[in-house]
Amino acid sequence: MASGVFLLVRPKTLRRPILPDALQPEPPAGALRLELDSHALRCNWKTLDCLSGTARAAAAVKADGYGLGARQVVPILREAGCEDFLVAHFSELPDIVGLIDPARVSVLHGPLNPQDVAYAVALGVKPVINSPFQARLWRAGGGGACDVMIDTGINRLGIAMSDLGDADIRALDVDILMSHLACADEDSALNELQRKAWEEARTILSHVRASLANSAGIVLGSGYHGDMTRPGLSLYGGIPRPELANRIEQVVHPQAALLQVRSIDVGDGVGYSSTFIADRPMRIGTIAMGYADGFLHCWSDKGLVTAGGKRLRTLGRVSMDMTVIDLTDAPELAEGDWVEAEYDLPNAAAATGLSQYELLTVLGKRFSRNC
Ligand SMILES: *Cc1c(COP(=O)(O)O)cnc(C)c1O
Repeated sequence: MASGVFLLVRPKTLRRPILPDALQPEPPAGALRLELDSHALRCNWKTLDCLSGTARAAAAVKADGYGLGARQVVPILREAGCEDFLVAHFSELPDIVGLIDPARVSVLHGPLNPQDVAYAVALGVKPVINSPFQARLWRAGGGGACDVMIDTGINRLGIAMSDLGDADIRALDVDILMSHLACADEDSALNELQRKAWEEARTILSHVRASLANSAGIVLGSGYHGDMTRPGLSLYGGIPRPELANRIEQVVHPQAALLQVRSIDVGDGVGYSSTFIADRPMRIGTIAMGYADGFLHCWSDKGLVTAGGKRLRTLGRVSMDMTVIDLTDAPELAEGDWVEAEYDLPNAAAATGLSQYELLTVLGKRFSRNC
């Protein structure tokens, strides 16, 4: 009898089997989402393409589409009419090559070894050649159409003007001859110097298309346009120069769910180090977004979220996975409801000291990205 009972008891060591990936249930949507305004993204590309005059606007989709999700933004940009795309690393290609003509994809960092070259050749993408070393690698691996980056004064990455006569550079089959502006978001004398050097490079090295301007460079004038412009930031709502204000729309809307609502009394502290102390009884809420999601420590006591048209401030320190908000003006908000962080890029940059670029690329992996 005793042994029969014994058999019914599940031994403590018996665990559920580990599920192979294919059998795992889909996780639920979760408490964080990055809403992409696809209409705004399309409009921004069209605006920048239009401001580029006779040149066509490409799209920089490096760094996972500036943090928005390359898989999400590329189809929308294509639909808007964009044909040329730029990434920085070869590792960024798997996300997007199935979505676009690989012959119109440029890899800005260029190849560093024969494996990079073989990969570019296998996919049919163009490396951007940045040095005689990269030109030799590319030619040794079979070569073919590529782009070149000429360094006209940023002194970062690109072929020096003095290397334009290099035999391996001259032997390249160049689609886009590009250079990159160091100070396009400022009124700097360097802009014109770089433009002239780029014009000079165009007369030395044969190529199909020429390109100089990033988002800010587009509004420096038609002399900066060439055949193709390369906006990134402003596609996604960034405004690097006043000329672009009122023309570029916000694309990213970070949203988080309320995990818990509570009441606190006068003198109660909120969050790590109790940096916020209530001076009256308050109703507060905890949202599922923290610095691990890109809502960095610099937002502590500075963030604003909106819900139902009301603006609610954040209280105390941002934690890794959570931030506390003041629900005084929104008594109707309950656990499970959603709020949206105010994330207008110029204002967010002014509030935090982060650049508009950082505010985008820092947005974390835990946001669901749908549009
Ligand atoms: C990132 C990048 C761009 C896009 O610049 P934005 O300032 O984001 O518009 C264009 N060209 C090159 C070479 C880049 O690295």
